Amino acid sequence: MKIFTKRKDLSQYLEQLRSDGKTIGFVPTLGALHNGHLSLLVRAQQETDKVVCSIFVNPTQFNDPKDLEKYPRPITADIEKLEQAGCDALFNPEVSEMYAGNEQWHLEIGELEHLLEGKFRPGHYQGVTQVVFKLFNIVKPDKAFFGQKDYQQVLVIQKMVEILKLPVKLVMCPILRETDGLAMSSRNIHLSAGDRQHALVLSKTLNWLMENFDRTKMPALTRECAAMISAEPGVELEYFEIANGENLHKSDQQTKEIVALVAVKVGVTRLIDNMILA
Ligand code: AMP
Repeated sequence: MKIFTKRKDLSQYLEQLRSDGKTIGFVPTLGALHNGHLSLLVRAQQETDKVVCSIFVNPTQFNDPKDLEKYPRPITADIEKLEQAGCDALFNPEVSEMYAGNEQWHLEIGELEHLLEGKFRPGHYQGVTQVVFKLFNIVKPDKAFFGQKDYQQVLVIQKMVEILKLPVKLVMCPILRETDGLAMSSRNIHLSAGDRQHALVLSKTLNWLMENFDRTKMPALTRECAAMISAEPGVELEYFEIANGENLHKSDQQTKEIVALVAVKVGVTRLIDNMILA
Protein backbone atom coordinates (compact mmCIF):
# COMPACT_ATOMS: atom_id res chain seq x y z
CA MET A 1 0.00 0.00 0.00
CA LYS A 2 1.25 3.46 -0.86
CA ILE A 3 1.07 5.97 1.98
CA PHE A 4 0.74 9.68 1.23
CA THR A 5 0.82 12.60 3.60
CA LYS A 6 1.00 15.32 0.92
CA ARG A 7 -1.93 16.10 -1.35
CA LYS A 8 0.39 16.85 -4.30
CA ASP A 9 1.98 13.38 -4.15
CA LEU A 10 -1.40 11.65 -3.91
CA SER A 11 -2.75 13.70 -6.83
CA GLN A 12 0.23 12.74 -9.00
CA TYR A 13 -0.19 9.04 -8.20
CA LEU A 14 -3.91 9.20 -8.98
CA GLU A 15 -3.33 11.17 -12.22
CA GLN A 16 -1.21 8.28 -13.46
CA LEU A 17 -3.86 5.71 -12.53
CA ARG A 18 -6.57 7.71 -14.26
CA SER A 19 -4.51 8.06 -17.42
CA ASP A 20 -4.13 4.25 -17.36
CA GLY A 21 -7.94 4.09 -17.42
CA LYS A 22 -8.42 2.98 -13.81
CA THR A 23 -11.50 3.96 -11.83
CA ILE A 24 -10.92 5.29 -8.31
CA GLY A 25 -12.91 4.37 -5.21
CA PHE A 26 -12.61 6.45 -2.05
CA VAL A 27 -13.28 5.60 1.60
CA PRO A 28 -12.86 8.62 3.91
CA THR A 29 -12.45 7.87 7.63
CA LEU A 30 -11.29 9.30 10.92
CA GLY A 31 -9.22 6.15 11.55
CA ALA A 32 -9.34 3.77 14.53
CA LEU A 33 -10.47 1.31 11.92
CA HIS A 34 -12.85 -1.55 12.62
CA ASN A 35 -14.62 -4.06 10.43
CA GLY A 36 -17.33 -1.52 9.57
CA HIS A 37 -14.70 0.66 7.88
CA LEU A 38 -13.16 -2.39 6.22
CA SER A 39 -16.56 -3.41 4.81
CA LEU A 40 -16.61 -0.09 2.92
CA LEU A 41 -13.17 -0.89 1.57
CA VAL A 42 -14.30 -4.33 0.37
CA ARG A 43 -17.31 -2.77 -1.37
CA ALA A 44 -15.04 -0.17 -2.98
CA GLN A 45 -12.73 -2.94 -4.21
CA GLN A 46 -15.72 -4.69 -5.77
CA GLU A 47 -16.91 -1.58 -7.59
CA THR A 48 -13.72 0.27 -8.58
CA ASP A 49 -10.20 -0.58 -9.85
CA LYS A 50 -8.12 1.22 -7.21
CA VAL A 51 -9.11 2.19 -3.70
CA VAL A 52 -7.89 5.15 -1.66
CA CYS A 53 -8.68 5.33 2.04
CA SER A 54 -8.12 8.50 4.02
CA ILE A 55 -7.44 8.74 7.73
CA PHE A 56 -7.82 12.29 8.96
CA VAL A 57 -9.20 13.36 12.32
CA ASN A 58 -10.80 16.51 10.96
CA PRO A 59 -10.80 19.17 13.70
CA THR A 60 -13.52 21.30 12.10
CA GLN A 61 -16.19 18.62 12.52
CA PHE A 62 -15.67 18.24 16.27
CA ASN A 63 -17.94 20.60 18.13
CA ASP A 64 -16.55 19.31 21.44
CA PRO A 65 -12.79 19.93 21.92
CA LYS A 66 -12.62 17.11 24.51
CA ASP A 67 -14.07 14.67 21.98
CA LEU A 68 -11.40 15.72 19.46
CA GLU A 69 -8.64 15.35 22.02
CA LYS A 70 -9.62 11.86 23.12
CA TYR A 71 -10.48 10.56 19.63
CA PRO A 72 -8.41 7.35 19.21
CA ARG A 73 -5.49 7.51 16.73
CA PRO A 74 -3.92 4.03 16.46
CA ILE A 75 -2.23 4.75 13.13
CA THR A 76 0.20 1.78 13.13
CA ALA A 77 -2.60 -0.74 13.68
CA ASP A 78 -4.75 1.06 11.09
CA ILE A 79 -1.99 0.83 8.46
CA GLU A 80 -1.65 -2.88 9.17
CA LYS A 81 -5.41 -3.44 8.75
CA LEU A 82 -5.44 -1.55 5.46
CA GLU A 83 -2.40 -3.47 4.18
CA GLN A 84 -4.09 -6.76 5.07
CA ALA A 85 -7.31 -5.69 3.39
CA GLY A 86 -5.41 -4.90 0.17
CA CYS A 87 -6.03 -1.15 0.14
CA ASP A 88 -4.06 0.52 -2.68
CA ALA A 89 -3.35 3.89 -1.09
CA LEU A 90 -3.72 5.67 2.23
CA PHE A 91 -3.95 9.44 2.53
CA ASN A 92 -2.97 10.49 6.06
CA PRO A 93 -2.33 14.24 6.03
CA GLU A 94 -1.48 16.64 8.85
CA VAL A 95 -4.06 19.31 9.67
CA SER A 96 -1.78 21.96 8.08
CA GLU A 97 -1.87 20.02 4.79
CA MET A 98 -5.66 20.27 4.69
CA TYR A 99 -6.31 23.75 6.11
CA ALA A 100 -4.66 27.05 5.29
CA GLY A 101 -5.35 28.48 8.73
CA ASN A 102 -8.49 29.50 10.51
CA GLU A 103 -10.82 28.91 7.54
CA GLN A 104 -14.24 30.43 8.08
CA TRP A 105 -16.08 29.40 4.92
CA HIS A 106 -18.74 26.75 4.82
CA LEU A 107 -21.14 25.31 2.31
CA GLU A 108 -24.78 26.22 2.82
CA ILE A 109 -26.72 23.02 2.35
CA GLY A 110 -29.95 24.05 4.04
CA GLU A 111 -32.05 22.54 6.80
CA LEU A 112 -30.51 19.05 6.66
CA GLU A 113 -27.47 20.20 8.57
CA HIS A 114 -29.59 21.59 11.40
CA LEU A 115 -31.90 18.63 12.10
CA LEU A 116 -31.27 15.73 14.52
CA GLU A 117 -27.46 15.38 14.69
CA GLY A 118 -27.16 18.99 13.55
CA LYS A 119 -29.17 20.16 16.55
CA PHE A 120 -27.00 18.28 19.04
CA ARG A 121 -23.68 18.90 17.26
CA PRO A 122 -23.86 22.48 15.98
CA GLY A 123 -21.36 23.10 13.17
CA HIS A 124 -20.58 19.39 12.78
CA TYR A 125 -21.86 19.05 9.22
CA GLN A 126 -20.20 22.29 8.18
CA GLY A 127 -16.92 20.66 9.18
CA VAL A 128 -17.88 17.44 7.42
CA THR A 129 -18.79 19.11 4.12
CA GLN A 130 -15.68 21.29 4.31
CA VAL A 131 -13.33 18.34 4.66
CA VAL A 132 -15.16 15.98 2.29
CA PHE A 133 -15.23 18.75 -0.35
CA LYS A 134 -11.45 19.18 0.04
CA LEU A 135 -10.87 15.42 -0.03
CA PHE A 136 -13.06 14.95 -3.13
CA ASN A 137 -11.06 17.71 -4.84
CA ILE A 138 -7.80 15.93 -4.13
CA VAL A 139 -8.89 12.33 -4.81
CA LYS A 140 -11.45 13.05 -7.56
CA PRO A 141 -13.01 9.61 -6.99
CA ASP A 142 -15.44 7.98 -9.40
CA LYS A 143 -17.25 6.55 -6.40
CA ALA A 144 -17.10 7.36 -2.69
CA PHE A 145 -18.27 4.89 -0.04
CA PHE A 146 -20.01 5.91 3.16
CA GLY A 147 -21.68 3.95 5.95
CA GLN A 148 -25.40 3.95 6.68
CA LYS A 149 -24.19 4.14 10.30
CA ASP A 150 -23.96 7.90 9.70
CA TYR A 151 -27.22 8.11 7.75
CA GLN A 152 -27.63 11.87 8.00
CA GLN A 153 -24.03 12.36 6.88
CA VAL A 154 -24.80 10.48 3.66
CA LEU A 155 -27.78 12.77 2.98
CA VAL A 156 -25.68 15.85 3.77
CA ILE A 157 -22.88 14.80 1.42
CA GLN A 158 -25.40 13.79 -1.27
CA LYS A 159 -26.89 17.28 -0.99
CA MET A 160 -23.44 18.85 -1.35
CA VAL A 161 -22.74 16.69 -4.43
CA GLU A 162 -26.06 17.78 -5.97
CA ILE A 163 -25.62 21.48 -5.20
CA LEU A 164 -22.05 21.63 -6.51
CA LYS A 165 -22.69 19.06 -9.27
CA LEU A 166 -19.61 17.11 -8.20
CA PRO A 167 -18.75 14.24 -10.56
CA VAL A 168 -18.81 11.48 -7.94
CA LYS A 169 -21.28 8.69 -7.22
CA LEU A 170 -22.00 8.03 -3.53
CA VAL A 171 -22.54 4.48 -2.33
CA MET A 172 -24.19 3.88 1.06
CA CYS A 173 -23.07 0.62 2.71
CA PRO A 174 -24.95 -1.28 5.47
CA ILE A 175 -24.16 -1.00 9.19
CA LEU A 176 -21.79 -3.63 10.52
CA ARG A 177 -22.64 -4.79 14.03
CA GLU A 178 -20.96 -6.77 16.78
CA THR A 179 -22.52 -10.21 17.30
CA ASP A 180 -24.62 -8.84 20.17
CA GLY A 181 -26.06 -6.11 17.93
CA LEU A 182 -24.00 -3.07 18.95
CA ALA A 183 -23.17 -1.01 15.85
CA MET A 184 -19.40 -0.95 15.36
CA SER A 185 -17.89 2.43 16.13
CA SER A 186 -14.44 3.80 16.89
CA ARG A 187 -15.98 5.31 20.03
CA ASN A 188 -17.00 1.91 21.46
CA ILE A 189 -13.55 1.53 23.04
CA HIS A 190 -14.52 4.29 25.48
CA LEU A 191 -17.43 2.18 26.83
CA SER A 192 -16.91 0.50 30.19
CA ALA A 193 -18.12 -3.10 30.50
CA GLY A 194 -21.31 -1.80 32.12
CA ASP A 195 -21.84 0.91 29.47
CA ARG A 196 -21.32 -1.70 26.78
CA GLN A 197 -24.25 -3.76 28.13
CA HIS A 198 -26.49 -0.71 28.50
CA ALA A 199 -25.64 0.40 24.96
CA LEU A 200 -27.35 -2.73 23.60
CA VAL A 201 -30.68 -1.00 24.25
CA LEU A 202 -30.16 0.86 20.95
CA SER A 203 -30.08 -2.14 18.63
CA LYS A 204 -32.66 -3.99 20.76
CA THR A 205 -35.09 -1.09 20.47
CA LEU A 206 -34.50 -0.67 16.74
CA ASN A 207 -35.03 -4.41 16.18
CA TRP A 208 -38.21 -4.33 18.28
CA LEU A 209 -39.44 -1.41 16.20
CA MET A 210 -38.68 -3.23 12.96
CA GLU A 211 -40.72 -6.22 14.15
CA ASN A 212 -43.62 -4.10 15.37
CA PHE A 213 -43.56 -1.43 12.69
CA ASP A 214 -46.95 -0.09 11.68
CA ARG A 215 -47.31 3.04 9.54
CA THR A 216 -50.54 3.99 11.25
CA LYS A 217 -48.92 4.06 14.69
CA MET A 218 -45.71 6.01 14.18
CA PRO A 219 -46.22 8.69 16.87
CA ALA A 220 -47.04 6.05 19.51
CA LEU A 221 -44.15 3.83 18.39
CA THR A 222 -41.77 6.78 18.58
CA ARG A 223 -42.86 7.50 22.15
CA GLU A 224 -42.60 3.85 23.10
CA CYS A 225 -39.08 3.48 21.70
CA ALA A 226 -37.93 6.70 23.36
CA ALA A 227 -39.33 5.41 26.67
CA MET A 228 -37.61 2.03 26.28
CA ILE A 229 -34.26 3.74 25.75
CA SER A 230 -34.72 6.30 28.52
CA ALA A 231 -35.61 3.50 30.95
CA GLU A 232 -32.17 1.90 30.46
CA PRO A 233 -29.84 2.82 33.36
CA GLY A 234 -26.87 4.98 32.40
CA VAL A 235 -28.36 5.90 29.03
CA GLU A 236 -29.33 9.49 28.28
CA LEU A 237 -31.51 9.89 25.21
CA GLU A 238 -30.76 12.80 22.88
CA TYR A 239 -33.28 12.00 20.16
CA PHE A 240 -35.32 9.14 18.74
CA GLU A 241 -37.09 9.89 15.50
CA ILE A 242 -38.98 7.95 12.87
CA ALA A 243 -38.16 10.09 9.86
CA ASN A 244 -38.57 10.47 6.15
CA GLY A 245 -35.41 8.80 4.80
CA GLU A 246 -35.02 11.39 2.06
CA ASN A 247 -35.12 14.62 4.09
CA LEU A 248 -35.32 13.56 7.77
CA HIS A 249 -38.61 15.34 8.35
CA LYS A 250 -40.99 13.48 10.64
CA SER A 251 -42.51 10.71 8.55
CA ASP A 252 -46.22 10.32 7.98
CA GLN A 253 -48.33 7.51 6.55
CA GLN A 254 -47.57 8.55 2.96
CA THR A 255 -43.78 8.62 3.41
CA LYS A 256 -42.08 6.11 1.09
CA GLU A 257 -38.63 5.76 2.66
CA ILE A 258 -38.70 5.56 6.45
CA VAL A 259 -35.74 5.40 8.82
CA ALA A 260 -35.56 5.36 12.61
CA LEU A 261 -32.62 7.32 14.00
CA VAL A 262 -31.35 7.53 17.54
CA ALA A 263 -28.59 9.26 19.51
CA VAL A 264 -27.72 8.72 23.16
CA LYS A 265 -24.99 9.26 25.68
CA VAL A 266 -23.91 6.15 27.53
CA GLY A 267 -21.73 7.36 30.38
CA VAL A 268 -19.43 9.87 28.65
CA THR A 269 -19.70 8.25 25.23
CA ARG A 270 -22.05 9.50 22.53
CA LEU A 271 -23.49 6.78 20.29
CA ILE A 272 -25.74 6.88 17.25
CA ASP A 273 -27.62 4.13 15.45
CA ASN A 274 -30.41 3.78 12.91
CA MET A 275 -32.53 1.30 11.00
CA ILE A 276 -34.20 1.56 7.62
CA LEU A 277 -37.83 0.51 8.17
CA ALA A 278 -39.27 0.99 4.69
P1 AMP B 1 -15.67 7.45 10.75
O1 AMP B 1 -14.25 7.05 10.80
O2 AMP B 1 -16.42 7.19 12.01
O3 AMP B 1 -15.87 8.84 10.20
O4 AMP B 1 -16.34 6.49 9.69
C1 AMP B 1 -15.85 6.43 8.37
C2 AMP B 1 -16.88 5.76 7.51
O5 AMP B 1 -17.16 4.45 8.00
C3 AMP B 1 -18.21 6.52 7.51
O6 AMP B 1 -18.75 6.52 6.21
C4 AMP B 1 -19.04 5.71 8.46
O7 AMP B 1 -20.43 5.81 8.24
C5 AMP B 1 -18.54 4.31 8.19
N1 AMP B 1 -18.85 3.43 9.31
C6 AMP B 1 -18.63 3.70 10.63
N2 AMP B 1 -19.10 2.69 11.40
C7 AMP B 1 -19.63 1.78 10.55
C8 AMP B 1 -20.29 0.52 10.73
N3 AMP B 1 -20.50 0.00 11.94
N4 AMP B 1 -20.70 -0.16 9.63
C9 AMP B 1 -20.49 0.38 8.39
N5 AMP B 1 -19.88 1.54 8.15
C10 AMP B 1 -19.47 2.24 9.22
